[in-house]
Amino acid sequence: MSLSAKEKKRLYDIEYRKKNAERLHKRMVEYTATHKTEKAEYDKKYREKHLVKISVYHATYYAKCREKVIERVHSYYELNTEKVKSRIANYTKLHRKEANARNLACIHIPLASKCETCGSERELERHHPDYNQPLVIQTLCTSCHRRLHENSPLPEHTHGKDGEIE
Ligand SMILES: [Zn+2]
Ligand SMILES: [Zn+2]
Repeated sequence: MSLSAKEKKRLYDIEYRKKNAERLHKRMVEYTATHKTEKAEYDKKYREKHLVKISVYHATYYAKCREKVIERVHSYYELNTEKVKSRIANYTKLHRKEANARNLACIHIPLASKCETCGSERELERHHPDYNQPLVIQTLCTSCHRRLHENSPLPEHTHGKDGEIE
């Protein structure tokens, strides 16, 4: 039985990657170090395009190599304890600020009767331009709100539901 050219190429590639794993890895690391922005951009696009594939891959990998994953997380934590701790603290602080602002606004600031952008009176939500000013909100409809975040996405901005939003 002869292999198709495509199959041959595939096997060759696998073999090549196996043989040159270290060299390829090194090249990748070098590339990443010198092309940080390009790499980040590429990764982001890749993740967006292959969202399902990636999450299936991760789930499968985790199911198969659970011990290994846990061990790696632990050793990362041991080596980077301070970094991890401060990252968690930052995350909590940020989201606590968000949650507080959302609660305060919800209690004290009623929604306007229509969307400040398009005038729609349906599906209105609160938008916080700045979480440091919890009582300053804008009333926006769902679609204007979404559009606003698409145009100027705030990385730490999360979306809630039913007018309880940011
Ligand atoms: Zn609107
Ligand atoms: Zn918002």
